[in-house]
Amino acid sequence: MSVTSKPEHAPAAPDQAPPESAESPGSPASAKSPNSEKSPGSPKLIDLKALTYDEAASVAESELGEPRFRGEQIFRWVHGRRAASPAEMSDLPKRVRAELEGAARIERLAVDQVQRSADGTRKLRLLTSDGRAIETVLIPDGDKLTQCISSQVGCALDCQFCATAKMGLLRNLGVGEIVDQVYRALDFLAAEEPDRRITNIVYMGMGEPLHNFKAVSRSLDILMHEHGANFSHRRITVSTVGLVPGIRKLGALPVRPNLAVSLNASSDAVRDEIMPINRRFPIAELLRAVREFPLEKRRSITFEYVLLAGKNDSVDDAVRLGKLLRPIRCKLNVIPWNPHPGAPYERPSPEAIEAFQQEARRQGLPTYLRTPRGDDIDAACGQLANRTRDDDPGAGELVSLRT
Ligand code: SF4
Repeated sequence: MSVTSKPEHAPAAPDQAPPESAESPGSPASAKSPNSEKSPGSPKLIDLKALTYDEAASVAESELGEPRFRGEQIFRWVHGRRAASPAEMSDLPKRVRAELEGAARIERLAVDQVQRSADGTRKLRLLTSDGRAIETVLIPDGDKLTQCISSQVGCALDCQFCATAKMGLLRNLGVGEIVDQVYRALDFLAAEEPDRRITNIVYMGMGEPLHNFKAVSRSLDILMHEHGANFSHRRITVSTVGLVPGIRKLGALPVRPNLAVSLNASSDAVRDEIMPINRRFPIAELLRAVREFPLEKRRSITFEYVLLAGKNDSVDDAVRLGKLLRPIRCKLNVIPWNPHPGAPYERPSPEAIEAFQQEARRQGLPTYLRTPRGDDIDAACGQLANRTRDDDPGAGELVSLRT
C-alpha cells in the first residue's frame, strides 16, 4: 500500500472486536447515534451515509420528528442518487433540509490520486476526513469490472507475506467510508467511462473485513439495498484469513455475500508461521466453520492459496489440500507469490507452479491459476494483489488479494 504511516504494531486479539481506539470517527453504534464528527462539547452530526434503510426511517422519526418515509427518502438521496448535501434533496420540505444541514453530514472521501495500468486496472487513492489514505482498485475483465474495497486502515493480523501487515491496525473504516469507496468509483466511472458499470465487489483490500464486522455487515446491507447501489449478494465477496466467529456471524446474516478464505498452507505448522491467526483458529476449526457456512445452490467457497517457493508449494501440499478441501463445495485459486520488498519469500518456478496445480486438480479440486493485474501501478500492494483468472474466463471475479 502506498500509505506511508509507520507501523505501530499492536495487534488486537483477532477473535475480538478491535479496541475502541481502532474504531473510526464514523463507526455507528446505533441508529440514534449513528456517526459523529465534532469537537467535544459540540452537537454530534449524524452521518447519513452510515444509516441503513431502516435506520434512516428510525432517525427521521426519533431525531427529526418526521414520518418514517422521510428517512426512506433521505436514504434514496444519499445512496441511490449519491447526493452530496441535504440541499440537493429537493423532495424534502425546506424545514427538513434545513434541520439536516445543522444535524447531519454525508461522509465523502476525497479522490487524491488515480493510477492507471496498461492492462486497464485503475487504482484510486482516497483520503478520509481525518487524512488517512486508503485505496480501492477497479479491475476490468472482459465485460466484468470488479472493485476491490478496503475495510480498515492497516491491519492487525500480521500475515507474514502481506505489506499491509507492516502498518499494524491504525483504525477501522466506518460504514460511510466503506460504501463511499464504491460511490467514488461510480462517479469516477461516470466521468471516465460512462458505459461501464461495476459488476462485482470484493472486500479484499486493506484490512481484514471480519475484524470490522459491524461496519462491514452494515455496508453490505446498504450496498445491496434496492434503493441504494442495489448490488446482488451474489456479486459481492467477503474475503477473510479465517476469523471463525466472524465467518459464523457472516453466515447468520439474512442475505449473505460470497465467502472467500485465504488459506495458503496445508498444515498448521506452516500456517502458524505465515499467518499468526492460525494459532488462534487452526485449520480444522477454520474448515469446520467454513463447512457450516450456508451455501445457496450453485454457490461455492473460494479458497485462496498463495504459492511461496519451498514453503507451501510442494506436490505433497497439494495432496494434503485435496484431503482437507474435498468435503467442501469449493474452488481453489492458486496465486504464485508476487514479490515485494522486504518479504522473505520467493516465487516458485513455473515447473513447481504447474506441478502443484496439476496435483490439486488430480485431487478433484476445481483449481484456477491467477495472473497479476495492475503490476505497473503497484495494484498488488499490501494484500491488494489483484488477480483475475487466466484459465476460468467465465467467472471474471477478482480473487486472492492476500499477498
Ligand atoms: S493478508 Fe489481510 S488479514 Fe493478513 S495482514 Fe494482510 S490485510 Fe491483514
